[in-house]
Amino acid sequence: MNRLNNIAIIGGGITGMAAAYYAKQAGAHVTMYESSDRIGGKIKTVYRDGFVLECGPDGYMARKPTLTELITELGLDDDLVRSMTGTSYIYVRNQLRQMPAGSVMGIPTKFWPMVKTDLFTWRGKLRAGMDLVLPRVYTGTDISLDTFFRTRLGSEVVEAMIEPLLSGIYNGTLDDMSIESTFPQFITIEQKTRSLILGMKALTPPVQAGVKPREAGKFLSLQQGLGVLIEALRPSIDRLYTETKVASVRAHEVTLADGTTESFDSIILATSPNALGPILGLQEAEKLSELKRTSSITVLAAFDEKEVAALDGTGYVIAKAEGNALTACSWMHKKWPHMAPKHKALLRVYIGSEYVPDLLAKSDETIAGFALRELRKIQHVGTPIFTKVERHIDTMPQYEVGHKQYVRAFEERLSTLDGVEACGAILHGVGLPDCVDSAKQAVARVMAGQAVSV
Ligand SMILES: Cc1cc2nc3c(=O)[nH]c(=O)nc-3n(C[C@H](O)[C@H](O)[C@H](O)COP(=O)(O)OP(=O)(O)OC[C@H]3O[C@@H](n4cnc5c(N)ncnc54)[C@H](O)[C@@H]3O)c2cc1C
Repeated sequence: MNRLNNIAIIGGGITGMAAAYYAKQAGAHVTMYESSDRIGGKIKTVYRDGFVLECGPDGYMARKPTLTELITELGLDDDLVRSMTGTSYIYVRNQLRQMPAGSVMGIPTKFWPMVKTDLFTWRGKLRAGMDLVLPRVYTGTDISLDTFFRTRLGSEVVEAMIEPLLSGIYNGTLDDMSIESTFPQFITIEQKTRSLILGMKALTPPVQAGVKPREAGKFLSLQQGLGVLIEALRPSIDRLYTETKVASVRAHEVTLADGTTESFDSIILATSPNALGPILGLQEAEKLSELKRTSSITVLAAFDEKEVAALDGTGYVIAKAEGNALTACSWMHKKWPHMAPKHKALLRVYIGSEYVPDLLAKSDETIAGFALRELRKIQHVGTPIFTKVERHIDTMPQYEVGHKQYVRAFEERLSTLDGVEACGAILHGVGLPDCVDSAKQAVARVMAGQAVSV
C-alpha cells in the first residue's frame, strides 16, 4: 500500500460513505471511524410487514446529478424510483386547501389558479401581484428568506404557502434562514428577471406531450430504500470502527476518545455539525458547531388503506398559525408506492421543533399517540397497524444569515491544517446530493494535495 493513500474518514453518514467510495476509487486505503453502532447516519431504512420504512431522508432532488451518478456507478440505477406527484395541500384556516396549480416552491406562476384559489384573500392576491413591479430586494448583502419573500409577495402568501413549504426542508424558520445559503436560486432569478413570478414561470418547463403530471416527480429514491445505497458503499471501507468516537484531529493525526492515536496521510471530517468544533479545536469550527440546529420527531404510521381518508395527492404541509403540533404529513404510499404493500397506507408526520423538548423523554407509544391525535384534527385515520417513532435531535443545521461567511472563514482556517479536509451538511447544502458533492470535492482536494507532496 502506498503510504500517501492512507486516509481516515470520520463519520459514516452519506457524506462519509461517499467520501470512502471516491477515496477507494482513487486508490486509497480507507479507515472509517463512526461513533454510533451503525453506518448510515441520518439514512436509516427499516423493513416491517412488507413496508419500506424510511426513518430519515426518503428521497433526493433528481435535478442534482451527483448522487444519481454515484448510484449508477454502483450499479443500482435499475432500482431507482421516481416520486409520484399529484395534488398537494396546505392546511390553513382549519381546512386542507389545494395548492394553486402552477405554484413552484410556493411561488405562484399561473394567473387563473391564483385568482381562483381560496388560500388567500383578494388583498393577499393583489399584494402578491406587486411582485411584478417591485424593484429587486437583494442588493448583494445576505438577508433572511422572510425579508425577501415578505417584501416581494406579501405576508399572506408567505404565511399560508411559502413558510410551511420551505421551512419544512430545513426544519427552521424563514426569519432565521439565509437566502444566500439556502435558496440562492431565488437571488439569481430576481437578478435576472426582477419579478419572482415571471422568473419562476420562465423556468418551469411546459408539461411534455404524453407525460402525465403524475409521472413527473422531482425526487428519486431506491426501490428497497436508501439503506441499500449505504450497504453498496460499505465495501469501499478497508477498516471500519463503529462505536468509536474521535476526540480530536490535528495535522495527519486522529485521537480517539479512549486516547489512542493513529497517523494518516489525510483525514476527512464528515461528522455531524456539532462535532466539528470539539474535534478540531479551531475557533472557526466552534462557530459552525455553535450555529443553531433544530430537532424534530417523525412518526411513521401504517394502516389498512380503508382506515385513511381517501384524498388524491401526496400529502400536505401545515401553516404555523393553525397551532397544530405537526408541520407536515406525507402520504408515503402515494408519493412512493414501493413503500407500502397493496391496499395498505403509510403516513409520515413531522412534529415541530418547539414541541420536541417536552416529548423527548416520553415513550414511543406516548409520542405516537400524541402525533395521531394532532393528525386526526386534520384528516381521518383509524387505528394504525403499527407506528415507528424516530427522534432527530439537534441534527438539522440552520443556515442563518451570514452562514457563507462562517463557512468561508472555517475553510480558510482549515486549509492551514495539513492533510485535513471537511465536508457534509453543515457546509454547502443539507440535501443528500449536496452531501455527496461535498464528499467528492473533499476527496479531490485530498488527492490533489497528495499529488503535490509526491
Ligand atoms: C428527518 C430528516 C429528513 C430528511 N429528509 C431528507 C430528504 O428527504 N432528502 C434529502 O436530500 N435530505 C434530507 N434530509 C437531510 C439529509 O438527510 C442530511 O443532511 C444528510 O443525511 C447528512 O448526512 P451527513 O453524512 O453529512 O451527516 P450524518 O448523517 O449526520 O452523519 C454524520 C455521522 O458522523 C458520526 N459522528 C459524529 N461525531 C462523531 C465523532 N466524534 N466520531 C466519529 N463519528 C462521529 C455520527 O454518528 C453520524 O453517523 C433529512 C434530514 C432529516 C433529519
